[in-house]
Amino acid sequence: MPYYHIWTIGCQMNKADSERIGSYLEQIGCQSSPEAEEAEIIVLNSCVVRQSAENRVINKLDALKSLKRRQNPILALTGCMVDSRVDELKRRFPHVDLFFGPQAFFELSRFLASRGLAPEGLEPGLVLSSSPSPSIFVPIIQGCDNFCSYCIVPYRRGRERSRPMEEILCEVERLAACGVKEVTLLGQNVDSYGHDLPQEPDLADLLSQLNQIAGLARIRFLTSHPKDMSERLIEAMAHLEKVCEHLSLPLQAGDDDILRAMRRGYTVEHYRELIGNIRCVLPHVALSTDVIVGFPGESEEQFQRTYDLLSELRFDTVHVAAYSPRPGTIASRKFEDDVPAEEKRRRREMVESLQEVIATEINRKLLGQTVEILVEGRKKGKWQGRTRTNKLVFFGDEADHLGELVKVKVGKTSPWALQGRLA
Ligand code: SAM
Ligand code: SF4
Repeated sequence: MPYYHIWTIGCQMNKADSERIGSYLEQIGCQSSPEAEEAEIIVLNSCVVRQSAENRVINKLDALKSLKRRQNPILALTGCMVDSRVDELKRRFPHVDLFFGPQAFFELSRFLASRGLAPEGLEPGLVLSSSPSPSIFVPIIQGCDNFCSYCIVPYRRGRERSRPMEEILCEVERLAACGVKEVTLLGQNVDSYGHDLPQEPDLADLLSQLNQIAGLARIRFLTSHPKDMSERLIEAMAHLEKVCEHLSLPLQAGDDDILRAMRRGYTVEHYRELIGNIRCVLPHVALSTDVIVGFPGESEEQFQRTYDLLSELRFDTVHVAAYSPRPGTIASRKFEDDVPAEEKRRRREMVESLQEVIATEINRKLLGQTVEILVEGRKKGKWQGRTRTNKLVFFGDEADHLGELVKVKVGKTSPWALQGRLA
């Protein structure tokens, strides 16, 4: 049985694509390996959202050159690094056998079929291995129409395309029948789901249908765009018992001029009101956000406004990134990358330190409480899982709890995770 190895970086969308590629390779008789050295098929799933991610992909590709020479595995590159300029990639990385864009799975299956390694016509799709993970990503909308000035995603993943609701329901029903307990619906802009479909269903419609699926215990979705977050969706979250109290709602900046230059489509006041409404309807919701520091022209005062807004709104999680100019984006053409790297780092570290204090305080409130977690796996001799609010929890026990919903009494908290014992 040939081994395959998949290396993935980047967003959950890439992780979902890799899950699908992996299950397809298993269907055609391959076996997963954590080591590239023993694999006959190697797939690299790339990210180019920031220069640092792109550099990691390039280093990985370079590092595989000698393995390709010695053992000649099939080497395929997918993800956002693969755009329409494949010829340029071929010149740069001649040791790669196949380049296929995000979601262009048919190219992989066609290539493997041409080598006699796969049957004709079988495509990576639904994850249906005999023992699927209890929690699975389900992409529901591809691409993005927003063209935020800094972001390369719309150029690499194309315009928004929603999957038909029937197709998603069928897939999740089959997943639940195989033992999957939790699905995370994915989209770069998940709350704009459905606007391009014939009856224009929205995410609230999809959630209420999914909520009825027997065996499924939890539903999450990410990432939501503040300008598309509707009252209807917030109400649906409150009324549908399987939909978890967790929202990922990227803020990006706390200054109106920077938000305008980023083309985000909302103001600080709009964002603040939105958070207020969400917390009013869902008092126990956990919120996560993304922030970019050092956007072109960001002054100390403008950065301070972002910092102050984060202290005011108190998110459970903040992902902070230093602005990285991406060739072809509006910002890279219009604005000079004028905040020095050192200063970007200082601002990023300030946000990280602030968030560490806030997350410490938020999580400490859970000390002594009993929380319900879905057990997703084992790490360093402990079971790990997440609460409905997406807090990572560890507990020790000898029995097999994989895929179970268990109650854990929290005995220790940190900004990043909770520890406890079975209640
Ligand atoms: N669609 C989501 C949104 O509206 O924010 C996020 C998708 S984006 C691929 C993931 C995160 O990467 C963004 O939230 C942003 O913080 C970060 N990001 C994207 N482009 C970036 C850039 N040029 N420099 C730094 N960070 C960037
Ligand atoms: Fe990028 Fe903006 Fe689309 Fe998010 S909403 S993927 S940041 S263009």
